[in-house]
Amino acid sequence: MKVLIAGAGIGGLTAALSLAEAGIEVTVLESVREIRPLGVGINLQPHAVRELIELGLGEALAATGIATAEHVYTDEHGGILFREPRGAAAGYHWPQYSIHRGELQLLLLAAVRERLGGAAVRTSTRVVDFTVESDAVRVQVVDRDSGARSELTADLLVGADGLHSAVRARLHPAEGPMLWSGVRMYRGTAEAAPFLTGRSMVIAQGAGGLSFLAYPISQRAAERGRALVNWVFQVPMAEPGPLTGQADWNSPADPAELLGRLAQFDGWRDHWLDLPALIGSGGPILRFPMVDRDPLPAWGAERVTLLGDAAHPMYPVGANGASQAIVDARVLTYYLAGGGGEPRDGQLDGVRAALTTYEQERAAATAAVVEANRTMLSAGGAPSAVTADYRRATGAEVEQLNKRASLTPRSVRTAV
Ligand SMILES: Cc1cc2nc3c(=O)[nH]c(=O)nc-3n(C[C@H](O)[C@H](O)[C@H](O)COP(=O)(O)OP(=O)(O)OC[C@H]3O[C@@H](n4cnc5c(N)ncnc54)[C@H](O)[C@@H]3O)c2cc1C
Repeated sequence: MKVLIAGAGIGGLTAALSLAEAGIEVTVLESVREIRPLGVGINLQPHAVRELIELGLGEALAATGIATAEHVYTDEHGGILFREPRGAAAGYHWPQYSIHRGELQLLLLAAVRERLGGAAVRTSTRVVDFTVESDAVRVQVVDRDSGARSELTADLLVGADGLHSAVRARLHPAEGPMLWSGVRMYRGTAEAAPFLTGRSMVIAQGAGGLSFLAYPISQRAAERGRALVNWVFQVPMAEPGPLTGQADWNSPADPAELLGRLAQFDGWRDHWLDLPALIGSGGPILRFPMVDRDPLPAWGAERVTLLGDAAHPMYPVGANGASQAIVDARVLTYYLAGGGGEPRDGQLDGVRAALTTYEQERAAATAAVVEANRTMLSAGGAPSAVTADYRRATGAEVEQLNKRASLTPRSVRTAV
C-alpha cells in the first residue's frame, strides 16, 4: 500500500513514522520550502508520549522537553488555589512533556529522514486538489519554486495539512469560516530562573477573563540551571463568532499591545515569576486568535481522510491539539495495518474498511475533546472538578490509559 500525506507537521510526520514501521510505503508532501523550528511551546499528554515512546523516540523526547510534574492554578496575585500532579507524578506510566513545537517537529523530521530516507519528505510541494478513482487517488501538487503543477498517485491520501487544510476544504467545500472564541492569545518564550519545581506549569486567572500561563520547555536550558519559559496571555477581545480576520501561527505582535493590559498582574514582579520581564525580554511576541470548528459529521471520502488539526481544530486550553494528532496517526496505522489481524492491501475495500473504523473512532473521541475544551474555556479558572471532568470527557483517566492495549499493530509486534 502506498500513502501520500499532505503536511509535515506534528501529525503528518508521526503518521509517516508509524505507517512506515507497519511496512506501508509513505511520502510526505510539505508546502514550505524549508522546515524551520517555528512556533512556541506545546504539551504532549501521556497518551501521546506513550505513542512516541512506542515509536522509539523516548530518549530524544527526554533530551528535548521538560517532563511536567504539576499544574499550579493561582489567582491574579499569584496566590496558589490548587496544585495538580501531572504525567508520571499523577500515576501515568508515561510522562507529560512541555516542549518547543519547532524542536518537536525537527525531532520527528530527523527520525523520518533517518528511517525512511531523505526523499520521504518532499518540501516546496503544495497539495491543491485530488481525484478519487476505483484503483487509486490522484493528487495534484504545485511546486512552490517553479509554480509547475504535477500529479502523484497513491492508494490513500491523508490530509494532515493543519488549520487551513486544502484537503478538508476540497472535501467540505460548503464549510464556513473558523469559529473565534473572542479570545486573542499572545505567546512568546524567554529565559528566566527556574520557578517552583522547575517542572511546573502555572495557570493564573485575572479579572474579566484575562489569564496567563507559563511553563518551561527546554531540557538543555534546565541542564544549564535556567528555564526557557513559554508564556501565553489570553485576552478576551470580543464576543464569540465566525472569524473574520486571519489565523496565522506566525503573526507578530507589538509588546505595547499587551503591556497596557497587564496592570492587574503587576504584583507578579515580586513573585516567583517576573511577568513584565518575561514579556519585555525582547524575544518575538506572536498573536493568534483562539479558534476551532464544529466537529464534522464525516471526515473523508473513499481513499482520502483527515488527521490532526485538519480534521478537528480545537482550542489549546486543554493542551491537547498535538497529542490528538499523534493519536490519530497511530489509530490510522493500526487499522490500515490490520489491527489485531493481517495487514490490509491497497484494494479499495480494504482501505475503505480501515478508514471507516479509523474515522468513526477518532471523530467521536476528538469531538469530545473539542467540546471539553470549550467547556474548560468558559469555566475560567479551572478548579479541580473542571480538570477531573476534562479527563473523564476526553478519555484520559490514569487507569484507562495505563490499562489500554498498545496501538502498535500485531503485524509490527510479531515482526520485531
Ligand atoms: C508554523 C506553525 C507554528 C505553530 N505554532 C504553534 C504554537 O506555537 N502553539 C500551538 O499550540 N500550536 C502551534 N501550531 C499548531 C500545532 O502544531 C498543531 O495544532 C498541532 O501540533 C497539530 O498538528 P498538525 O500536524 O495537525 O498540524 P500542523 O502542525 O499545523 O502541521 C500542518 C502542516 O501542513 C503543512 N501544509 C499546510 N497546507 C499544506 C498543503 N496544501 N500542502 C502541503 N502541506 C501543507 C504546513 O506547512 C504544516 O507543516 C503551529 C503550526 C504551524 C504550522
